[in-house]
Amino acid sequence: MSAQRTIVIVGAGFSGTLVAASLLKAQHWSATQIVLIERAAKIARGTAYAERSYPYLLNVPASRMSADPNSPLDFLNFAQHRIPDATAEDFLPRELYGQYLEATLLDAEVSAATHVEFKRVKGDVCGIEPAEQAGYRVVLADGRQFDADDVVLALGNPGPADLPGTDKLGDQYISNPWAGPQNFTAGETVLLVGTGLTMADVAMAASAETKDEITIHAMSRHGLIPPSQTQFSQNTCKVDSGSILRAASFSALTLLRSVRELADDTERRGGDWRETITFIRNIAPQLWQRLPAREKRRLLRHVRPYWDIHRHRLPSQTLARMNHLRRHQKLNVHAGRLLEFELVHSAKADVNVARPKVRVTWRPRGGDQPQTMLVDRVVNCTGPDYNIRRSGGPLMRSLMSQGLAVADPLSLGIRTGAYGALINAQCQAARNLFYVGPMLRADHWEATAAQELRGYAERLAGYLSAPVGRMRAVASA
Ligand SMILES: Cc1cc2nc3c(=O)[nH]c(=O)nc-3n(C[C@H](O)[C@H](O)[C@H](O)COP(=O)(O)OP(=O)(O)OC[C@H]3O[C@@H](n4cnc5c(N)ncnc54)[C@H](O)[C@@H]3O)c2cc1C
Repeated sequence: MSAQRTIVIVGAGFSGTLVAASLLKAQHWSATQIVLIERAAKIARGTAYAERSYPYLLNVPASRMSADPNSPLDFLNFAQHRIPDATAEDFLPRELYGQYLEATLLDAEVSAATHVEFKRVKGDVCGIEPAEQAGYRVVLADGRQFDADDVVLALGNPGPADLPGTDKLGDQYISNPWAGPQNFTAGETVLLVGTGLTMADVAMAASAETKDEITIHAMSRHGLIPPSQTQFSQNTCKVDSGSILRAASFSALTLLRSVRELADDTERRGGDWRETITFIRNIAPQLWQRLPAREKRRLLRHVRPYWDIHRHRLPSQTLARMNHLRRHQKLNVHAGRLLEFELVHSAKADVNVARPKVRVTWRPRGGDQPQTMLVDRVVNCTGPDYNIRRSGGPLMRSLMSQGLAVADPLSLGIRTGAYGALINAQCQAARNLFYVGPMLRADHWEATAAQELRGYAERLAGYLSAPVGRMRAVASA
């Protein structure tokens, strides 16, 4: 290794961009090179903030989207250059947020010290191998290689798990709505599988693109759709977090009881019970780490659907639009279980031109009689599949086959230690290989929203820029 230290970041979406920006702004004690590798055409976008044909809105108000914890209105100030009357409570365009992230990185780049070099690389990383002396060799699909003292993986969300029986559906099945344009056609009927935030996004785009000339069915086991964001001040929910953390060390049930009591108490004091969700979310990593393994499973099985819908909320205008579509039967939400997909070809003479339809057999929740519906297309809106054992990506497969990365037993993501250090197959935390992003949920539970990921990215950058040895020794002590 040269005297210059090299930190390679793989993935320049939200998390990778913020790690790079924090590293560029940090004080480094020796000559440092930061290499940011991204396979997409544009950096600082990722899946969430990419340019799309439909102008999707952020799900969180502008005041809670700052990339800089010391300046909560940083994003709003940026946005007001383009949208002068934007307010802190507005849900602004996601694409604008991508531009903001890019500008944040650029600002950090120009403010970096002269002994800190920054390199952006466009490329697809397909492997990471331990180097002969120390650190890692990062291998790109086109054959280029980078030697790194430290590697940060910021790969984003995995795609959704394929729905059983969809392999025969061909073009009538969209396996990942974020992988490319969906191009909805007026007059078609579509089934969106999943009823969460992705479903809401796809339903909004589909109805706008076809000027409401579309019939949408959305289905999930519980048929729950997210509520809208609400405005309340977070000051009525008052409790010593210690009592909730103690409840979590016993069982999912004692935890649930304590949370219910807290919600009731908050309402009695004139507050909004949803303050409790925010309170719990802020201590979710500590709660999660205290819950015994069996109780984690129990919580996932019984509470997760309810937690998810209250935790992930919609802008009020999105919910109003969805309610409008529901009133006009343009959006029909079902609770049930999918049983079978079958491709049905037209009996007409022009069989070669007519697109086949999909017959969907499903059983309504609580019912025993299967029902069918005929749709033109099925869109998988079930969200990321965090079971990395099923990952088809060469990089994750390579990491797992070398034992450098392991899946957690609950299939929530990737196993990590302090600062996101990868836990290897021998249960040891890597010294120089880190992960940041939504798959931290395996060890922290809440690691989805920009606010949470910003914290993880900052802490990792702080750790990486600390004098090597001193702080690392402290961390491993
Ligand atoms: C549709 C959507 C909307 C969201 N809206 C909000 C919101 O309004 N508010 C909020 O707080 N949170 C929101 N989130 C959640 C959160 O902000 C994102 O999930 C967050 O952007 C995740 O950041 P990331 O860097 O981990 O992943 P990403 O931002 O997706 O970035 C991962 C990057 O890594 C690159 N990459 C992956 N593998 C490789 C490889 N092998 N080689 C090179 N490059 C690679 C990808 O191309 C991608 O650019 C949203 C999430 C989604 C999916």
